[in-house]
Amino acid sequence: METILSIHNLNKRYGSLQALKNVSLEIKKGNVYGILGPNGSGKSTTLGIVLNVVNKTSGEYSWFDGNLQTHEALKKVGAIIERPNFYPYMTAQENLKLVCKIKNIDYSKIQEKLELVGLNDRKDSKFSTFSLGMKQRLAIASALLNDPEILILDEPTNGLDPQGIHQIRDIIKQIASKGTTILLASHLLDEVEKVCTHVMVLRKGEILYTGPVDGISANEGFFELQADDTDNLIQVLKTHPAIDKITATEGKVLVYLKTKLESKDLNQFLFSNNICLSHLVKRKNSLEEQFLELTKNK
Ligand code: ADP
Ligand code: MG
Repeated sequence: METILSIHNLNKRYGSLQALKNVSLEIKKGNVYGILGPNGSGKSTTLGIVLNVVNKTSGEYSWFDGNLQTHEALKKVGAIIERPNFYPYMTAQENLKLVCKIKNIDYSKIQEKLELVGLNDRKDSKFSTFSLGMKQRLAIASALLNDPEILILDEPTNGLDPQGIHQIRDIIKQIASKGTTILLASHLLDEVEKVCTHVMVLRKGEILYTGPVDGISANEGFFELQADDTDNLIQVLKTHPAIDKITATEGKVLVYLKTKLESKDLNQFLFSNNICLSHLVKRKNSLEEQFLELTKNK
């Protein structure tokens, strides 16, 4: 699968405050990634660094397999990291025309994107008359005008009413269903669960979990395993009655449980099937519980 963005051991210090510690993430084409964490956990800092508006302290990131300079790569990225800001006295359509002019995009894109975000019937209304949800949707339309490879959103539903939140989430899902890769930052677990396929959970700048979103809601917890022969490991795991689902990502096998299973019992079972693990971690609580613990103590 094509890599859109690769982040490796990113560190960021603001004076004495370490805002990011060894953050790594691989973004593959077509997936929807969430960066989930309470306020101050480093989500916006991460987005700011890869968008070249915040300087990193150390570490690397590269766009599109490193084939493009950051400046060129960012032309293929649509990002909304601040509150939507357009000319208040101009209409939605006029504002988007201006964006097209600046970015050298054909005006024909405007209607398509306004339709996508459900604003075509309000295209002649002034921006100043829009609700916050409509402003946010216009910002999404604007970011999509040049058909970017990836759309980046920072807390896209902050401050919106329930209906506005629902509309934005629906639009994000629609955009994803057309194959656009998405990276969004959110402090809302249910937002990430509803919209994302993959998640990186951050706490105080450190990664707590990265992987498929399914892992977050695994009630009986889950195991992270590694062995030399991944295929064989998966075959043997499939025969265990306590195991619900198995996914493999970057050499690690994640095992979700339907019923309780202790580490030592799983280890013994695998060993008796001639598998020696090189890595075994049990996440005792579900990530949901862990995440709630974290946000409670923020
Ligand atoms: P999030 O987006 O997850 O809420 P941020 O990335 O904005 O978190 O912030 C991470 C940490 O870095 C916080 O402790 C925040 O106070 C600090 N921080 C962010 N920006 C700056 C800045 N420009 N100067 C100093 N500290 C900052
Ligand atoms: Mg933020």
